Amino acid sequence: MTRVPVLLLAAAAAALLLGAVVFALPLWTTVAGLTLVIAALIGLALQRDPQSNRLTGEASHGTEEFAPKLLDVALDEMREGLLVIDTDMRVVASNKAARDVLSETGPIEARRLTELTRNPAIYDAFLDALKGQQRDGVKVETYDSGRRVFDLRVVPFHANGRIAGAVGVLFDVTRLDRLEIVRQEFLTNVSHELRTPLTSILASAETLETGAVENAENSRRFLSIIQKNATRMERLIHDLLELGAIESGSVSVNPETVQLKSLVDDVMSSLAMAAAERTVGLRNLVPTNAQVTADPHRLVQMLTNLIDNAIKFNRAGGIVTLEYARNGNDRISVTDTGEGISTQHLDRLFERFYRVDRARSRELGGTGLGLAIVKHLAKAHGGEVSVTSRIGEGTQFTIELPRQTPSSRGVGTR
Ligand code: ADP
Repeated sequence: MTRVPVLLLAAAAAALLLGAVVFALPLWTTVAGLTLVIAALIGLALQRDPQSNRLTGEASHGTEEFAPKLLDVALDEMREGLLVIDTDMRVVASNKAARDVLSETGPIEARRLTELTRNPAIYDAFLDALKGQQRDGVKVETYDSGRRVFDLRVVPFHANGRIAGAVGVLFDVTRLDRLEIVRQEFLTNVSHELRTPLTSILASAETLETGAVENAENSRRFLSIIQKNATRMERLIHDLLELGAIESGSVSVNPETVQLKSLVDDVMSSLAMAAAERTVGLRNLVPTNAQVTADPHRLVQMLTNLIDNAIKFNRAGGIVTLEYARNGNDRISVTDTGEGISTQHLDRLFERFYRVDRARSRELGGTGLGLAIVKHLAKAHGGEVSVTSRIGEGTQFTIELPRQTPSSRGVGTR
């Protein structure tokens, strides 16, 4: 390594990392403290003689023996990748995270960056830094072990008034990038879901305006279409707000001891008409003494969604059965005798807007959000929901709730 004043290097590294912290603060507040420590460590690391793999004589007294190990461990444990190169584009220092990005397992010191990566984003950023141009927010994507996305920041460092090399820090933003994709998909879905009924409403209103209103029967037909679609939009917005509130944690879940049988009776009564319309029978097989610990309002919401689906996706003359079992946790199952769901859909069934048959779900007045709401409510209770299904035989959804002793939570009785 070309010897450059250690303080300059440390200052460059610290400036780079402080800048990175400011950039990252809204996203990773927790890394701020760590990053400051890292800045100091980089200053120390740059004192190393890469050939001998030892710290130079400037290391503080009494730490000579363990300092190299400490530095290696500290730098290698960093989640951020660190890569320092000299003016020949040869690696002066690196840590494990950076070597992972470059798919290197052994030491890479003294090797040229061009030998190590063909990724133009990395190469160009370091090249620009050597020309004196700081680079921020460079998006680096790798595909070696699945898609990973990094945010690269590279700054030049100077010695004796000249550029002596460049320091780069790679932040792993794979998760954030994935969330961004989910967010965009969600927006597209919402827009699409809202646009469909809105188009119907506009078309019907236009038809009425251009003469259909003169005819009483036509008027009724188009008004009914408007009402149906407006109701659908209202339901969708209600479910979206509900899901948003549950996901953001602003919905409080207040568990108490609930008499399950009577709660299920209430839910079944509210859905009795829908079941009768489809000639689907409702069976409550929950034992009279079954008690669960749950927020009664939220449990009603979960069971309503599941039973409503079990009715909608059932066959004429079918049955929906509610059962309770206890195996450590409380398990409440909703079983139908409907068409069933093929295995390939089961993994994604609880995703927002996921439907097996989109047109059918819409036809039945669904929003595609019911199961996502059930999943998040079950999670808010510390539980979960699962599904098993057999094509042609039916589907079973099971809500599993943790069993609480009366003393572990403030409980009342419903
Ligand atoms: P939707 O409003 O469409 O019912 P959900 O989130 O409640 O939305 O359900 C998502 C999809 O899962 C439904 O569109 C349907 O394809 C499938 N599904 C849910 N419950 C059942 C069931 N009991 N039997 C068969 N398919 C079901």
